[in-house]
Parts: sequence; structure tokens; C-alpha cells
Amino acid sequence: MAGLINAAAVEKPEDYRNIFVYLENRNGELQRPALEMIGVGKRLAEKVHEKLYCVLIGSKVSEMADEAASYGCDVILGAESPDLAEFRTMPYARLVEDFVKREKPNIFLIPATRNGRDLASRIAVSCQAGVTADCTEIDIEEDTRILSANRPTYGESMLAEILCKKHRPQMATARAGIFPVPEKVDGSKCERRIEKVKVDKALLKKEILEFRKKEAIDLTAAKVVVSGGLGLGAPAAFKLVEKLANEMNGVVGASRPTADLGWISRDHQVGQTGQTVRPRLYVACGISGKIQHIMGMKNSENVLSINIDQNAEIFKYSDYVIVDDVNKVLPALTEEIKKYKKAHVKKTVKSSS
Ligand SMILES: Cc1cc2nc3c(=O)[nH]c(=O)nc-3n(C[C@H](O)[C@H](O)[C@H](O)COP(=O)(O)OP(=O)(O)OC[C@H]3O[C@@H](n4cnc5c(N)ncnc54)[C@H](O)[C@@H]3O)c2cc1C
Repeated sequence: MAGLINAAAVEKPEDYRNIFVYLENRNGELQRPALEMIGVGKRLAEKVHEKLYCVLIGSKVSEMADEAASYGCDVILGAESPDLAEFRTMPYARLVEDFVKREKPNIFLIPATRNGRDLASRIAVSCQAGVTADCTEIDIEEDTRILSANRPTYGESMLAEILCKKHRPQMATARAGIFPVPEKVDGSKCERRIEKVKVDKALLKKEILEFRKKEAIDLTAAKVVVSGGLGLGAPAAFKLVEKLANEMNGVVGASRPTADLGWISRDHQVGQTGQTVRPRLYVACGISGKIQHIMGMKNSENVLSINIDQNAEIFKYSDYVIVDDVNKVLPALTEEIKKYKKAHVKKTVKSSS
């Protein structure tokens, strides 16, 4: 068995101040989870009257710093090098660790993305800090400055509050898509400390020859998501889901078993182990409403559920329900929306003269 680390508690937690957030970026663009982290960090910093520091690593840090500042942070700590264009665990971790050890933050938040999880665990080990993974609620106690990191547990049936009283920084990763992106503000007062760094080639270990972009479906930004579940009865019925989604300029979501069965690709999966969505309208077609699915769509503004079972669990989370066979309802609904659009949506007629 691997040895456990008997990490020493910090002697003076009061020496650790301010909130750090790590800003995930790809190809020189801040990703939505990074903006969500700024929102959470800002809220905590305001509550305890401390500063929000954003940590940015990459090849175009100076450009991204302007955008980060416009969401309202106090300090940007950046490390920039052409060798950091793509996420590389070892050099990224080393640079972030340096910032943490130098600045001694009280709290450090990282998005629970693939790269974020990779980074958080390494930093937690090297700083002997520990990390609460995949939080869905994050707060801070004003008097003690103890982080209240909440994460679902026991198959999402309970919420565990995890406190880290003796070690610093108090680290947590936050589930993407749960927290709102903050409003933009005047970012001119944000202090920028961006260093050009030389990356130790020994840390790069692997040479990346090529990146092939996978056509990923981003459900998180969609205003309408129409999701299919096992109640569709067969993979071909996803065509009906797609037609309704297209008619409403929406995207197609899915429950996990439909992805497991290969009825649709995994990119469409909504839920605990899929994507978290918050559309204006979520349409659940033949989905029972198990908690793991609900976790991914409960922040939707409106939910319409179609289910043959009048006692379906999903109805408890729905604003509108239709109790009927989804294979009958979907074509009828699509037809009605078409008719409505024809009657009510004005077309722009272009004149050729
Ligand atoms: C660790 C873990 C993680 C998980 N992560 C996820 C996740 O991310 N996302 C996810 O979705 N699930 C996840 N699951 C699986 C989850 O527990 C459920 O099994 C799953 O959500 C059920 O999918 P479903 O609603 O499509 O199927 P079912 O539960 O089988 O429900 C089918 C529904 O269709 C209805 N129905 C049947 N025929 C018709 C018809 N003709 N017309 C209308 N309605 C009909 C039924 O009444 C029923 O309510 C996870 C499970 C575990 C253990």
C-alpha cells in the first residue's frame, strides 16, 4: 500500500490570506469554467474583505488578462511562454505551486474539468493541503475564514460539507456549469503581474505532435435542450428528438443509458457523469428522473417532461408535463411549433432591386 502523507498542519492559518482561482484556458481563450470560478472567488473575497487573485498560465496570458480583469478580479498572476500553449501537467503544476507558495492564499479554487482535476491534485500534494473535489456549493464562514466546500455524495443522494481547518490553502474543485458567470465590470484597476517564464524542457516529458479537435457538442451554453431517454424505445427515435430540437434552435441531450447503449454519442449525455446544463427550456422525453440525471438539469429555467407513467419522478422537477407515449407526442409537438412559427414569426424579405 502506498504510504499516507502525514501532512503537518500550518502553524498560523491567519498568515494565509486572499482567494486564488485558476483560470482554465485553451488556445489562448478563457473557458467558461474559468469565468464561473471568478464569480465564486469574487463572492467569497467580498464576504471576508480579501482580494481575488486569478492565476493564468499559457502562451497568450497578456491578452487573456484583459478579459479576466473585465469580470472583476483584483490581481492577475500570470506565467507566459510559447511552451505553455497547451496544458502540460508538470510545468503548469510547478508554476502554479510557485505562486501558491509565494503568495500563501487562504483558499484556492480550480474548475473540476479534466485538466483542473489533474492540476488540483498535484498542487494539493505538493502544498500538503488536500482538496475537496467536484463541489456544487461553495461558501465561506466570515469569522473563521473557513471554506464550506459542499459536494454530492452517496450517488448524489446527500450533500457533504467538507471543512479543512488545519491546512492551507483550503482547496476545492468546482463542478463546471453549476455556478453563474459574473457580470462584466470595469477591469482597469486590476493589478497584472505577468512573468515571461522559461520552461524546463525536462518537465515537458512528452512531445505533442498534433492535436485533433473532436467535434464536441457543448450543451452548457444552449438555450433549449431536448433530451431523450430509454422511454424512446429505440435509437431511431432520437430522430424525433432531433427534429424537435432543430425546430426550437436547440440541441439534443440524452440520459446515460442511451449513451451506454450507443443510441447516441456520449457528448450528449446530461447528468452527474455528463454535462450540466441550465437552458431556458429543458424537454425530457422518456426520462425517469433518477437523481444522477436531475443533477445535470435541475438548474434549467423551465422543464417540460413527456412520460407515459403519470407517477414518473421527473414530474417532480417539471413545470409542464405530458402523460403520453413520447413517440406520439414528439411529432405532434414539432408540427405544432412549425405551425406556430409559420403564423407568428415574421420572415425578412430581401429585395433584389
Ligand atoms: C455513478 C452513476 C452516475 C450516473 N450518471 C448519470 C448521468 O450522468 N446521466 C444520466 O442520465 N444517468 C446517470 N446515471 C444513471 C441513472 O441512475 C439512471 O439509470 C438513468 O438516468 C435512467 O435513464 P432513463 O431515464 O433514460 O431510463 P429509465 O430510468 O429506464 O426511464 C425510462 C422512462 O421512460 C418512460 N417511458 C417508457 N416508455 C415510454 C414511452 N413510450 N413514452 C414516454 N415515456 C416512456 C418510463 O416511464 C421511464 O420513466 C448514473 C448512475 C450512476 C450509478
